[in-house]
Amino acid sequence: DISLSPRVSSLKPSKTIAITDQATALVQSGVPVIRLAAGEPDFDTPAVIAEAGMKAIRDGYTKNTPNAGTLELRSAICHKLKEENGISYTPDQILVSNGAKQSLLQAVLAVCSPGDEVIIPAPFWVSYTEMARLADATPVILPTHISEDFLLDPKILESKLSQKSRLLVIGTPSNPAGTVYPRKLLEQIAQIVAAHPRLLVASPHVLSDEIYEHIIYAPATHTSFASLPGMWERTLTVNGFSKAFAMTGWRLGYLAGPKHFVSACGKIQSQATSGACSISQKAGVAALGLGYAGGEAVATMVKAFKERRDYLVQTFGELEGVKISEPQGAFYLFLDFSSYYGTEAEGFGLIKDSSSLCRYLLDKAQVAVVPGDAFGDDTCIRISYAASLSTIQAATDSIKKAMTALK
Ligand code: PLP
Repeated sequence: DISLSPRVSSLKPSKTIAITDQATALVQSGVPVIRLAAGEPDFDTPAVIAEAGMKAIRDGYTKNTPNAGTLELRSAICHKLKEENGISYTPDQILVSNGAKQSLLQAVLAVCSPGDEVIIPAPFWVSYTEMARLADATPVILPTHISEDFLLDPKILESKLSQKSRLLVIGTPSNPAGTVYPRKLLEQIAQIVAAHPRLLVASPHVLSDEIYEHIIYAPATHTSFASLPGMWERTLTVNGFSKAFAMTGWRLGYLAGPKHFVSACGKIQSQATSGACSISQKAGVAALGLGYAGGEAVATMVKAFKERRDYLVQTFGELEGVKISEPQGAFYLFLDFSSYYGTEAEGFGLIKDSSSLCRYLLDKAQVAVVPGDAFGDDTCIRISYAASLSTIQAATDSIKKAMTALK
């Protein structure tokens, strides 16, 4: 399409959003589709947080805030990062944005030049590769395997680093596989990162997406990359409120890092959106006021997520020909159904890949899930368990029935 810039022409629309919208349209037209495609907690925002937002409106706290976010919120974020993550930042090293998505995009735009390589372990969150493309950079994908719980092999990282490497994106806990990087592995990655010659002069280069940090299942624990020895200078830490605090629609996230880079990201934001929503920022302060790791309110949600995860892992574990890596965090199950590829489904046709399998499941089981190819791994499909246990049970029954019909 010559009427559009090549930057847009090469961009893929978000598949998770597309499938969610398609499922919503089906529901609106009366088809009882169970939606397990979206990455959105099914819980309400905790009442204390919502009340702080309403109070902000009542108090007329409805004007623009500073571009970087209110000092009140940035100070609360610094306190959180120190207490929970062991990383020291001052408020001028924090940039609050309209969601972690904006924080990530601005970081990629601020750091990457055309032709730079952005290293992304697969399976990856759908937006990382497209953000790299928006910056005219090249995504370099590092495959991982379900048999190794989708953890990055440091040797593969080492072999893929080049003079063009600029940024390594690490998401832990990860979307779509719920992978939690153990501290030991992050330390090995840090050593490789520290030894890379170009990255030495062109730091920082690790973009650490920690948006799911609180949604984690013991014994797994979260390590912030910037807290590792020598990594503070090299890391841009992204986090936000959407997932742990069930605040997706409030659009609130943040970036923390060396001031030089945070200011650069702030410059982009000042010309694009200005500061995040004033009301949401008041709500964000209340969220951080809930206590360590979100206190009881977050613990209750995490407990429910764990119960659903356990149910899914056990139930799909009983199904023939499926491979599972038990997710240690987030609220997704990334299931390998590739042993079913090549089968014919009656009245449907050939199941040949993750996309046709997801179309089949939407058609036959009336369950919306996302094909793994959107995340760079066509062997799998992603089931979001941000839905009630009874909904998940109904969906699982349906999927199992549809899959059994294939054999
Ligand atoms: N990072 C990952 C891995 C995500 O899954 C998401 C949301 O789906 C985001 C970042 C963006 O979060 P936000 O809603 O704060 O923009």
